Amino acid sequence: MVLVLIGIAIGILIVAILIIKATKTSSRDILGMKLFCVTCGTKTSDSKCPKCEKSAKTFGV
Ligand SMILES: [Zn+2]
Repeated sequence: MVLVLIGIAIGILIVAILIIKATKTSSRDILGMKLFCVTCGTKTSDSKCPKCEKSAKTFGV
């Protein structure tokens, strides 16, 4: 009886971990999409793209 209860508890724990993992992965993907520059597709840490900022400055000069 105790073993069955432990098995059920472990099963619920694994399912919970999988759900948390899936949620984290999906949120990361959404963030990753936002972190990519729309113009050149470079991964950016901020909303501004260093490459496009540089090119814009060069173009201005
Ligand atoms: Zn860019």
